Amino acid sequence: MRYISTRGEAAPRGFEDVLLAGLAEDGGLFVPEAWPRLGAAEWRALRGLPYAELAARIIHPFTGGALGFEELHALTRAAYAGFRHPATVPLVQLGPRDFALELFHGPTLAFKDVALQLLGRLFDHVLARRGERITILGATSGDTGSAAIEACRDRAAVDIVILHPRGRTSEVQRRQMTTVLAPNVVNIAIEGSFDDCQDLVKAMFMDAPFRAEMRLAAVNSINWARIAAQIPYYAAAALALGAPERAVAVSVPTGNFGNVLAAWAAKRMGLPIARLIVGANRNDILARFLAANDMSVRAVEPSLSPSMDIQVSSNFERLLFELLGRDAAATARTMRDFRATGRMPVPDPAWRAATAEFAGFSLDDAGTLAEIARWHREAGYLADPHTAVGLAAGRACAPADRGVPVVTAATAHPAKFPEAVERATGQRPPLPPALADLHAREERLCVLPNDLAAVQGFLRRHALRNAA
Ligand SMILES: *Cc1c(COP(=O)(O)O)cnc(C)c1O
Repeated sequence: MRYISTRGEAAPRGFEDVLLAGLAEDGGLFVPEAWPRLGAAEWRALRGLPYAELAARIIHPFTGGALGFEELHALTRAAYAGFRHPATVPLVQLGPRDFALELFHGPTLAFKDVALQLLGRLFDHVLARRGERITILGATSGDTGSAAIEACRDRAAVDIVILHPRGRTSEVQRRQMTTVLAPNVVNIAIEGSFDDCQDLVKAMFMDAPFRAEMRLAAVNSINWARIAAQIPYYAAAALALGAPERAVAVSVPTGNFGNVLAAWAAKRMGLPIARLIVGANRNDILARFLAANDMSVRAVEPSLSPSMDIQVSSNFERLLFELLGRDAAATARTMRDFRATGRMPVPDPAWRAATAEFAGFSLDDAGTLAEIARWHREAGYLADPHTAVGLAAGRACAPADRGVPVVTAATAHPAKFPEAVERATGQRPPLPPALADLHAREERLCVLPNDLAAVQGFLRRHALRNAA
């Protein structure tokens, strides 16, 4: 299996290179040269497998022989051993045709753990074989940072440095990062905003000598391996509900379009997914695109589902590439125009192709609270605000055929957003026991000014200390 760039100007690569590179050097995103496809008998053979084995079976074709099946299976077993539920990603029935696929039983209570717990181990495995080390560098406004830190803690070949804006993340979010005391984890609180943190990270990646010296790498959501690691849970849900004989619809609360793209990839692999439903909060660019081919950027507005407060969904480029018939030149042109004008000129046939597979729906904060209250009242279920957007989208866009179940990706544990849940239901969801003492744990972080030289100097000194 080789990977090509959506912009066509980068040489094809194998799985390991794509894992370590993240973005292609032409600015495009890597996609498989061809999609692996499973027949009905092959899907049936996956029914009832433990999740770690199912995941290894589905991801293995994407590794193109870079890892043996048993090697990969050992990594998926280790990745999911720490999840708090024996099913790893349990499917919970909420209504006659409504199901929540709970993806939040990992260490940081959000779905990003499912991919990142595997990614950290894949990095370590590949780097150990090559005798190399990397430093993962990223900026976070909250959730992604903690999931990346949990994924990289105690990995032998990886250091991780995460910048967050000092005093501008929630207490739980900060503590989930700063109470990880592993020696390869560095938390830096920047005296500035999240944008300042992102600018510092960008500047460090653009500083080629520094980038090479520190062997900087990223784990952001455009990394192909993250998408691949999100495909298996859609298969697990569909198989449990009767696939390949019975189709399901999937509803995904969406930000960067990574999670719903994984569902689309599962469909490309032959899983019968009747409809892909995209849930958005008031930042509704994807819903506007699907409703009226209006992909135009507006200012990001804060909402109760902050992990979806995004205007430019970076993974959309992968779908665009397919909608444009895998025409890399047209994809590159469209993305350039989008960047320059804030409007994406998607040709009408490509837009129609998108609307044949995807439906979009957006919900404001009041609607989100009402949806949380509804599921609490009707099913005794506490949904976090992101999950609530997905559940509402699933109801609004469910296929007419009532025999098609609607599976909503439950992307965060309700205890991660206790204020919203309490406002809607009067109940404050408690943290799971493993995190109950979070507020009593020791923190380690370093506060630095919003100054590139200061941050780079700090990283150099830290790297020297680790090498000694
Ligand atoms: C990251 C995140 C999302 C959005 O996922 P994308 O892959 O960016 O679409 C939704 N919900 C929660 C809780 C998240 O952390």
